[in-house]
Amino acid sequence: MSDLFTRHQAVMPAWVSPYYEQPLEILSGKGCRVFDADGKSYLDFFGGILTNMLGYDVQEVREAVERQLSTGIVHTSTLYLIRSQVELAEKITKLSGLPDAKVFFTNSGTEANETALLLATHARGSDQVLALRNSYHGRSYGASAVTGNRRWKNSSLSPLNVHYLHGTDRESFPWLTDEAYARFCVEDLRDCLDTALASDVACLIAEPIQGVGGFTAVPDGLFKDFKEVLDDRGILLISDEVQTGWGRTGESFWGIQAHGVTPDAMTFAKGLGNGFAIGGVVARGELLDSLPAQGISTFGGNPLSTTAANATLDYLLSHHLQAHVHRLGTKMIAALRTAAERLPMVSAVRGKGFMFAIDLIEPATGKHSPTAAATVLEETRRRGLLVGKGGLHGSTLRMAPPLTLDDEEADEGMTILIDALDAVERERLAPSDRTGSRRHSA
Ligand code: PLP
Repeated sequence: MSDLFTRHQAVMPAWVSPYYEQPLEILSGKGCRVFDADGKSYLDFFGGILTNMLGYDVQEVREAVERQLSTGIVHTSTLYLIRSQVELAEKITKLSGLPDAKVFFTNSGTEANETALLLATHARGSDQVLALRNSYHGRSYGASAVTGNRRWKNSSLSPLNVHYLHGTDRESFPWLTDEAYARFCVEDLRDCLDTALASDVACLIAEPIQGVGGFTAVPDGLFKDFKEVLDDRGILLISDEVQTGWGRTGESFWGIQAHGVTPDAMTFAKGLGNGFAIGGVVARGELLDSLPAQGISTFGGNPLSTTAANATLDYLLSHHLQAHVHRLGTKMIAALRTAAERLPMVSAVRGKGFMFAIDLIEPATGKHSPTAAATVLEETRRRGLLVGKGGLHGSTLRMAPPLTLDDEEADEGMTILIDALDAVERERLAPSDRTGSRRHSA
């Protein structure tokens, strides 16, 4: 075990656990590649959990941040005007498609969702909130209350009164057709609002594609049907775009737009700062203005993060990355689907754009296989590719490369991933004595 990992374990909580049997220390990166302490290079299909949205050490972002640093102004707080913050808010409100939108900046996705929950519960005068099963919205007291995934939920003690909806559990209802399942989800929502909850439900908070949950999604169009039911009762819709925003899904700029719906608020974080800490809420102005007391986020929207975010957004838009992601993502997902046909261990391939996943099972029993997922994770690393893991059962592998990934890198990454799956499948069918040596070289 590396000395650094031993030190990590001594001073970090046990629930902050790095990937891999021998955790990796990444020292530098360039484009879509990162380099470890031994100088070994990896193609990165996870980007620091979808955070290095443009890849590493992007010249335009670095130069903008260096210019900002050279002014000597590192931090001022919102007690003073911050030009880069206002400029960023102007861009985001325009991109949001929300009427008369305004923005409040935070440092993380968790804080963004806290803010959205505060807005909705205050506006509706209610502590009742709807969320989806298998969701993840952050690690705080309130955000974990609306998290419907036991693997990431530490407490049920928050005062929020949460009801979890069906929508991402299609596989639990194999006897229903797709249409019948979608109808069932809407009926479940309507029934729960009509019979189980008091009439003042504040909001539904939902991820258009669930990140931590394993890139699981509700059927296309379901949020539109949900929204009709919510609108009848004045209930707000908050779209958590922390993972799905900025064109990552390819077909739309915000994940929720795939459903033909305009939400009341959207939360964002992760990729916007291309590595700098930033999050926020964009909402209808009237909703965002409605909080009665003073508010501040000391570091939210600071000059460094907002400068990085402005440069990131400018790059993203001027390079038309959403269209690029749509084309190349479709190709990568198709390649994975073809490979999956010969891999009994892969039970599902899903996703959109640069946000796609596979589920791994034990073919003999059909049970979710976290062991297979962990083995493929190690094998891809050994072959020079970083991917993510997740899902309710820890048996999902998640691929979310930087949006700048080019065709050659896409081919390289998909070849490594598919070769790794083939190798693990072969090993499953004819176990050899390789496990020990693989561990050693990982
Ligand atoms: N919402 C979603 C959909 C996320 O995936 C995450 C983090 O993974 C969060 C919220 C929380 O964001 P943060 O870790 O920046 O607090």
